[in-house]
Amino acid sequence: MFNKILIANRGEIALRVICACKELGIRTVAIYSEADRNSLPVRFADEAICVGPPQLSQSYLNIPAVISAAEIANVDAIHPGYGLLSENANFAEVCETCNIKFIGPPPEVIRLMGEKEKARAAMKKHGVPILPGSEGVLASEGEALEWAKSVGFPVIIKASAGGGGRGMRIIRSEAELATLYAAAQAEAAAAFGNGDLYMEKYVEHPRHIEFQILADEHGNVVSLGERECSIQRRHQKLLEESPSTQVTPELRKQIGDILSKTLSEIGYANAGTIEFLMDKDRRLHFIEMNTRIQVEHPVTEMVTDVDLVKAQIAIAMGEKMESVLHGPIVHRGHAIECRINAEHPEKFTPSAGKITTFHPPGGTGVRIDTAAYAEGVIPPYYDSLIAKLVVRGKDREEAISRMSRALGMFIVEGVHTTIPLHRKILADPEFRAGHTDTTFIERFLARNGEKK
Ligand code: ADP
Repeated sequence: MFNKILIANRGEIALRVICACKELGIRTVAIYSEADRNSLPVRFADEAICVGPPQLSQSYLNIPAVISAAEIANVDAIHPGYGLLSENANFAEVCETCNIKFIGPPPEVIRLMGEKEKARAAMKKHGVPILPGSEGVLASEGEALEWAKSVGFPVIIKASAGGGGRGMRIIRSEAELATLYAAAQAEAAAAFGNGDLYMEKYVEHPRHIEFQILADEHGNVVSLGERECSIQRRHQKLLEESPSTQVTPELRKQIGDILSKTLSEIGYANAGTIEFLMDKDRRLHFIEMNTRIQVEHPVTEMVTDVDLVKAQIAIAMGEKMESVLHGPIVHRGHAIECRINAEHPEKFTPSAGKITTFHPPGGTGVRIDTAAYAEGVIPPYYDSLIAKLVVRGKDREEAISRMSRALGMFIVEGVHTTIPLHRKILADPEFRAGHTDTTFIERFLARNGEKK
């Protein structure tokens, strides 16, 4: 049994973990940078420790500082949230060495899935469908050309250490290859300190569909079904929903079964998400696995009634799946999440500053995950996500009308947000008809006369 957990994160996800701990009767320790001194996680955690100045590298990503805080507070475990150190195998190892439980999978599995071309190979070996592409990292531009010719244009090159859509380029012809290869390599090296690239066939107009799984530490893995995250801007998700209009119960079961078997064989533990692209023939192709809780996890929580963060903690305490879940997974209704970012509406650049008015909507079937409040300041140093507005309805139609009314009752003043953009998406006939794919936003912005 854990008595105390340190949350190595900030913002809404830190608060989300604090909520789960409070309900489980576990004490919490928040860490914070000097910029987050007045944040809600600091206020609601039982203890709070400053780990450094605002810059990420000196605070939330400073492993010695985070571990020192954990030792001073004498915690049993660390929850890493998403982003930051959540997929850092080295951090998970340091936790293990210091006898602090890392709430996530074993370091070697994080490492395997973190090298995306190795993850591809591992999935292929276990029979999970992947896209045609290079085997391993590309040694040179010449090798990239060879693979592109064998796979057939268009192709996409991606960073092996990738994330957040960075280091990715779509290549449609041989003539473009040299320039785009160099650009992807430079971007990957700058973003991840590693310029390794690999290649995949580019799928035209795909849907992004991902499966949520939970695995205990005794080899039992269950699938909690899918989320569709096709509404993206610059390869980053804006709106997610579950179920996908395109996944039949048979397909859901088929993929769930194959993932359960694969992840059990790989030795996976804790929560994880397996991302796929769906082509126009409704075939799913693996693209990557995230070895942590996702931003969009509430969508699955709304339709399954499983508290994924509490499940993560129970699993990390060594509980078996039957006591983590108390019964089979049942899907009810339809859920949608809108990511509310503090962003300039046209330029899509972060809009930091002071929130002057903050009125979140409520009512039946509405959930808000946020650490924002009136008079609170959004520091310029971090992610621009300020709230996640999530709704459930009995079906997709009700979820859409509920989300529309909730967005209309959400008041945020002082900073620009994506609320007006979401209201327009929800009103869009193509979205309402379920004609969503990852190029939706491009067409939508063109129709609405806005800049990309
Ligand atoms: P990251 O880890 O940077 O988020 P992913 O591999 O998860 O990268 O891909 C992010 C997004 O990029 C996908 O959701 C999709 O929109 C697009 N994408 C990635 N691979 C392909 C592909 N092979 N074909 C078409 N689009 C792709």
